[in-house]
Amino acid sequence: MSRIRAAFFDPTGVRHSIPTYPWRFAPPHLLTLRQLAARGLRPGGQDVQAQVMWSSRRHGAPGVRVAFLYDIRFALPKRTATARQLTALAKANTARRTCPACGQDAGYVIPRHLGVCLTCHYGTRRLPHEHHPDPHPAAGPR
Ligand SMILES: [Zn+2]
Repeated sequence: MSRIRAAFFDPTGVRHSIPTYPWRFAPPHLLTLRQLAARGLRPGGQDVQAQVMWSSRRHGAPGVRVAFLYDIRFALPKRTATARQLTALAKANTARRTCPACGQDAGYVIPRHLGVCLTCHYGTRRLPHEHHPDPHPAAGPR
């Protein structure tokens, strides 16, 4: 273990106030948020259990970096955010497909430049509100 790594090796937290490990030296049950997420987990209310520290030599921003670690044994499954997000997304898409003139789900996103569905705009269907002038009044009997 190099001198730098030794400086970051503090499993009891005497120097760093929480258990600290050099990058890649943390016990396998301690994971970063990203590692938890990759397993479909979230910290689940637990506090930060430990941290990994490493020296970044990245040009422009050198220095000591820290990532917090959580105990996988206290982790909980990620909320089914995808299901909720899908619902929200579906709602938003429905709103974008709903014609403000006739209130129908047009089946496509209402063109912004028209502001109404194509049926309303082009008057291809007789609608109860007839909110627009018929662009082809002579096209057929009404
Ligand atoms: Zn419409």
